[in-house]
Parts: sequence; C-alpha cells; structure tokens
Amino acid sequence: MIENKFPGKDITSEDLKTKFPLCNKKNKNHKTVINIDGLKIGANKNIVLFAGPNMVESYKLMTSVSKELLKNKLIFVRGGAFKPLTFPYRSKHYYETREKGLEFLAYIRKKYKCKIITEIMESKYLDKIGDIVDIIQIGARNMQNYPFLIDVAKTNKPIMLKRHFGASLRDLLGAAEYILNEGNKNLMLCERGIVAPHTHSAVSRYLLDITAIVALKEITHLPVISDPSHACFNSRWVKSLSLASTAAGADGIMIEIHPDPKNAKVDNLQTLNYKQFRDLLKSLKKIAKTLNKNVI
Ligand code: PEP
Ligand code: MN
Repeated sequence: MIENKFPGKDITSEDLKTKFPLCNKKNKNHKTVINIDGLKIGANKNIVLFAGPNMVESYKLMTSVSKELLKNKLIFVRGGAFKPLTFPYRSKHYYETREKGLEFLAYIRKKYKCKIITEIMESKYLDKIGDIVDIIQIGARNMQNYPFLIDVAKTNKPIMLKRHFGASLRDLLGAAEYILNEGNKNLMLCERGIVAPHTHSAVSRYLLDITAIVALKEITHLPVISDPSHACFNSRWVKSLSLASTAAGADGIMIEIHPDPKNAKVDNLQTLNYKQFRDLLKSLKKIAKTLNKNVI
C-alpha cells in the first residue's frame, strides 16, 4: 500500500529510508547548520538574508549594494554573473556579465568583506571561483543536471539548491541526495515558486509554495531558504511573502534589490529599491524577534 504521508503525496515513510537516507531528518532536533566564518545558516536563532541585484551588472552597482547591506549590518550579497535567461537573444538590456561579473564579485568581497552567493551554470567555472564565492547557487533550471550537481558537490563549498518550478519535493530531495552522497554536507534548499497554470498565472508568474517550506522542514534536516522575488515577479508582494515564509519556518530569505529597479538589466519588476528593502527588513526583524531569532 502506498502511504501518502507527506505533502506532495509522493514521499512515503519507506522512501525516507531507502531513497532519502542522507537528507531525511532522523529526529526532531536533527538540523544541518552551515557555518560560514561563524555565520550560522540553519541555526535555530538565525534568519539569513541574501540580497542583491538579479544580475551583477557593474562595479558601481555592486559597490552600492554592498554599502547598503553593510549600513544595515548585513553581509550576504546575492547576484548572478551567469544568468539562465529564458531566451538566447541577448540585447543591450538583456545580457550576462559572466567572467567580468565574477570580477565585480571578487572586488566587493575583498573590499567590503561581504559574503557572496552566486549561480554557477557550468562545471568549467568551478575551479575559478575559489576566492570569489562563499555559496554556490544551483539554479532551478539545473536542479536535475546530476553530473553538474556532483561536480558542484566536489568543490566542498556550501551550496544552495533551488527547486525547479515543475519539480515535486521528491524530485528536489532526489537531487539533494546526489549532493550529500558526494560527501558535501553544506547544503541548503530553496523554494522559489512553482508553476500553477490555472490559478493566478495572470498576476504572479509562479506560486510561492509555502507548504513546501513547512514540509521540507519536517522531512529534512537541511536549511530551507525562500525566494519570493522569483516566485511572484512583483516587487509590491515581496515583503508580505518574505514575512509569510519566515513565519512558516524558513531559515532564510533571498530577495532582489537595486538602487534603481526601473533600470535594472534583468527582472526589474520584482526588484525592491533601497527604501522598500529597509521597510522589508524592519518588518522581518519584528517577526524574527517574535520567533526569538536574529536576522543575519
Ligand atoms: C536567480 O536566482 O537569479 C535565478 C535565476 O533563479 P531561478 O533559478 O530560481 O530562476
Ligand atoms: Mn533571477
């Protein structure tokens, strides 16, 4: 008999033993804590905030973002040099900074001592990012690229694995298992919205699956991050969804910010300006306080 015990209805208790021996939670206090120079992700008391532009556009932009984060006593900067853009046609508005973008990240990491989370899409770049990247992001579109997952795991760097927008929790955890199976224990998962075709696709590009946050926290010992920016594609909703994710038990939030969102090169609709960002942070800290947590 199939026992549909968990949300997603495709993970049974038997599966937890046979399919997910490495990512399943062995007891209620079992938790992976990823320690990045003393900053603990997944620790009971912390909510980590990854913030930055969608794309690492220039030295100027990355300097501005780093200063804004430091002013607010935050240290983790997100931003992509390699962008899985949906169409291959690059224009002056839509392009990737690639190796140049890695230089921008290296610069702010050195100058402002911030920590960097960025997406890498191809194995050939993995040996070039030793001193540049603190957390490697595996994007939604690469979630089931198993040889790539294995290569990333072998770097022994902390990893954030994003759930593909069409993947079940079973698919996501199968991918997580590939990484853990290589001996890399510094893994966190990220919910970034799923496709919900017949519900509200006209107003929100994806549906942020808050249920998945709760379910993953119950099923696995891995930290769970929520990315409301990519889920809703609507800057006005990012704050509420960040707060909801935190209340649901997320260990962290990833959001997109930019000094001038209208002129952001990629995904400007979901991006917060600094004023909106500070407002979000203020509310996030209030929720964190009620949960007895700190925003780091
Ligand atoms: C991103 O974080 O910039 C990104 C491309 O996300 P996703 O892979 O979730 O679409
Ligand atoms: Mn993006």
